[in-house]
Amino acid sequence: MENPNTKIMNTKPHAILVAYPLQGHINPSVQLAIKLASKGFSLTFINTQSIHHHITSSNPVNDPNHFFFGPTNGSNLDIEYMTVSDGLPIDYDRSLNHEHWFGAMMHTYPAHVEVAVREIVKSRPSTCCVIADATSTWASKVANKFGLYYVSFWTEAALVLNIYSHVDLLRENGHIAPGTRKDEIDYIPGVTSLKTTDLMSYFQDEDMTSIVHQCIFEAIKDARQSDFILGNTVQELEPHATLVVQAQIPFYPIGPLFPHGLDKGSTAMSLWAKQDCTQWLDTKPHGSVLYVSFGSYAHISKEELEEIANGIKLSGVNFIWVIRPDMVSSDDPDPLPIEFRNEVQDRGIIVTWTNQIAVLSHPAVGGFLTHCGWNSTLESIWHEVPLLCFPLLSDQFTNRKLIVDDWKVGYNLCEETPVKKEEISHKIKLLICESSGTKFKERINKIKKLLESAITSDGSSEKNFDSFVNDLKIGTKKKLCFSLDS
Ligand code: UDP
Repeated sequence: MENPNTKIMNTKPHAILVAYPLQGHINPSVQLAIKLASKGFSLTFINTQSIHHHITSSNPVNDPNHFFFGPTNGSNLDIEYMTVSDGLPIDYDRSLNHEHWFGAMMHTYPAHVEVAVREIVKSRPSTCCVIADATSTWASKVANKFGLYYVSFWTEAALVLNIYSHVDLLRENGHIAPGTRKDEIDYIPGVTSLKTTDLMSYFQDEDMTSIVHQCIFEAIKDARQSDFILGNTVQELEPHATLVVQAQIPFYPIGPLFPHGLDKGSTAMSLWAKQDCTQWLDTKPHGSVLYVSFGSYAHISKEELEEIANGIKLSGVNFIWVIRPDMVSSDDPDPLPIEFRNEVQDRGIIVTWTNQIAVLSHPAVGGFLTHCGWNSTLESIWHEVPLLCFPLLSDQFTNRKLIVDDWKVGYNLCEETPVKKEEISHKIKLLICESSGTKFKERINKIKKLLESAITSDGSSEKNFDSFVNDLKIGTKKKLCFSLDS
């Protein structure tokens, strides 16, 4: 008699990909979805309703029915798109009400995702896995409930995952709260030495009991129970951390996940409308422009903003500065110093959002003053733009260590806090001069080549991706006996 599952096994495997509702997670998730679909998967991509609302409001020309992946973007991939509620009203300001939002992500959102997964599994019996961002607290439970594999998607450095995985060791040694040790950390496998200021911000906080901390720690625990972890990194870039992580969990570095071909970052997935800087950049000499951006989520104080503005002014360099409407913790509608805009108008532009990849790939750009988000780090290296590091939150401190201490492709901007305009100006000038010199250029070019070769057909990331697909296919046969009624 025919095995009823045989037919299912012979159809295209279907995966459910749930993107974490932050720009820095959506971008690589979209690339992952495209990659999976181009390797023969059919996919359902899930965004929150709130993210969908933001993106469609900022990209009005896009037909929401063909959102991200449809014919409007020139692709014919087998990807369905759907949205679920995170439990909060669509327009609620999540960034201002951080704790409340994290609470919803931990307690309300999972129920909505579960309902969606149940429906999808019913209508798509070839569904084999839930791919969820490693920041999710619910994924292993939901995947298990429906007999699916949980594929965790790690959007940060392998070093960060390695450090999170050794939280107990750090606690035992008193390097994280309630510990007070500030000396070097030299006992984490695969990490020669680490300062406490290199730790992720959640490990540097005095109080590690907030809802945000609970969410992060729960998510890491959950990710470690996944069947597979895909990482947006490259094994040659982080060989030691990769090996240590792989000794514990099935970790597949498949990065860097960038938009390729004609797309070059033009897919409609931005939460803010993009302002085009290309024409302005075309008028500037090669390597003369500093690009300044602190990503999609981090906030700075009005004092920090003023100091950075004064530092940029003092440096005299050309610049593009991305100041998101919600970036500055201040009620002031224009928190920049009075006259700043007038004083620098001949050599700088300020935008609320732009196509970062287009900016970084422009020859006029010679340096990047960055918060060290992981996507920004990879994008900057890919376009061989040296970095000036001003980490603000989360993994950004650890990425700064990689950039400054390990890869030596940038300067640190926060040895002294609060940062002063003189230091900012001095380091901007060093960076922009340096970019035309050899020091950073040679090293960054070497690392860029590592990234480039990782995604060639016989490169490590491509091979890791194929291994993952094969391992999942083998596993799929085992897990197909799930009951849709569970
Ligand atoms: N980005 C962009 N336009 C901007 C600023 C940022 O397209 O004006 C993109 C950037 O290319 C990157 C993402 O937003 O892909 C930010 O991710 P990252 O990990 O660097 O920082 P996060 O936002 O997660 O803090």
